[in-house]
Amino acid sequence: MKASTSKKQAGTSKEAQRKALSPRVKQLLYVRAGGRCQLCQDYLLESDELGYYEFNRGEMAHIVGQSLAVTSPRGDFPLAKELRDEVENLMLLCARDHQTIDKAIENGDFTVELLRELKQEREAHIKHVTGIPQNHHTCIVRLVGRIRGNIVQVTRPECNSATLHHHPARFANFALDYHRQGVEIDITALGEPEENPAYYQTVKLLIDREIQLIRQGIERSEIAHLSVFGFARIPALVYLGFQLGNKVGATLFQRRRVDAKHWHWLREGPVQHFEWELIQSSPQVERVALIVNVTGCIHRWELPAAIDDTYNIFLLKPTDVDPHADTVLTVESLDQFRQAYRRLMAHLEIKHKSTNQVHLFLAAPTAVAIACGLDLMPHAQPTLLVYDRMPREFAAALSVN
Ligand SMILES: [Zn+2]
Repeated sequence: MKASTSKKQAGTSKEAQRKALSPRVKQLLYVRAGGRCQLCQDYLLESDELGYYEFNRGEMAHIVGQSLAVTSPRGDFPLAKELRDEVENLMLLCARDHQTIDKAIENGDFTVELLRELKQEREAHIKHVTGIPQNHHTCIVRLVGRIRGNIVQVTRPECNSATLHHHPARFANFALDYHRQGVEIDITALGEPEENPAYYQTVKLLIDREIQLIRQGIERSEIAHLSVFGFARIPALVYLGFQLGNKVGATLFQRRRVDAKHWHWLREGPVQHFEWELIQSSPQVERVALIVNVTGCIHRWELPAAIDDTYNIFLLKPTDVDPHADTVLTVESLDQFRQAYRRLMAHLEIKHKSTNQVHLFLAAPTAVAIACGLDLMPHAQPTLLVYDRMPREFAAALSVN
C-alpha cells in the first residue's frame, strides 16, 4: 500500500483519513535501509535518468497493509492497527518493486513472512557493513586450476560475501585483477599434470609473476592483508602458500560442499584437533617423509618405492577420528591443524637437523594445503618435495623452499 509518495486515490475519503507516517519512523526506515531499495538495492536518493539529480525516489511500503480493508495488500494479516505504521511494518522500496509486491500478492507471492525476512536480512546487512572500519580492506588472491576434470567458479560476489562475513570482516579489494577482469592466477588453461609434462614448471612461473605484484603492493603499503581462495592441485596450493609468505596477515578460505555460501567458513561447528606420530623409524635421521591425512587416507604402502625402510615416516592426522571429507569446516579447526603442523616442523628442525628435504604426501582440503606452504619457515626449515597422485601412483611434482 502506497504510504508516502502515491497520489493515487488522493482525495478519496479513505486516503484523507490515512495517518501520515511520523518523521521518526521515516528517519529510522531510511537509515536502516541505507537509502536503498530493500529488494533491488537501488540507491533511492538520487536520479540519473535525465541527468543527475538529488531526488528522493523512495517509497515506504507497508508489509501488512495499513488498513483492514480487503483492497489493502496483506491488510487481512493479524496485526494491531496501531502497529501498522511502525518501522517494523515498513519497507523502503523503489516504485517498481513497490508495485511488484502489491501486484504479486494476488498470486500468493510476497507473503508477510517473506517480506519480513527480506527486510530483516537487508537491515542486518546494512548495519554490519557500515560498521566495518573503512581501512579494513583485504586483497583477494584467487588460484583456480583443474582438479581431475573439475573447475569451480570463485566469483567477485562470492569473495566479497566471504570476506564481509568473516571475523573480522573486511572489504574485498580486487587490485590484482584490475586490468584483466578475471581471477588473479588462472591455471585452468594448462590442463592437468597427467597430460602436460611442463605443468608444474609453468604453474610456478605464473604464481611467481603474481607474487611479484603482491610484494610490490606490500612494499608500497597498498596491501595490508590478503584473502586467499584456492582451488587447484595440491602441489600448486602448497607452492602458492609458501610464496605468499608471512609479510602481511592472510586469511585462507576454502570451498565447502554443503550449501550455497560456498566460500564461507562455518560460524559454529566442531573444532577438530590434530596430532602426529612416527610410523616408521630409521637411524638415517636425514631421510624424512611426511603423510598428512586430513580428508583421506594415504597408506604407507602407497608411497613410491624410493621411500623405503631407510626413511623416517611421520603421519599427521585428526585426533580421535578417521580422516573424512568434513574434517576442516571451521577456522578453529584450520588453526588446530596449523599448530600441529608447526609443532611437527619445529620437531624436525631439532631432531632431524641434517635433513634438507622432506617428502610430502597430502590428502587434505585446499586451505590446509596452502597452510602447509605458508607455515614453512624460509631457509630455517627444510625443502618440501610435494607429491601428486598421477593418476594412481605418487610422483614428485615440485619443491618449495
Ligand atoms: Zn527496487
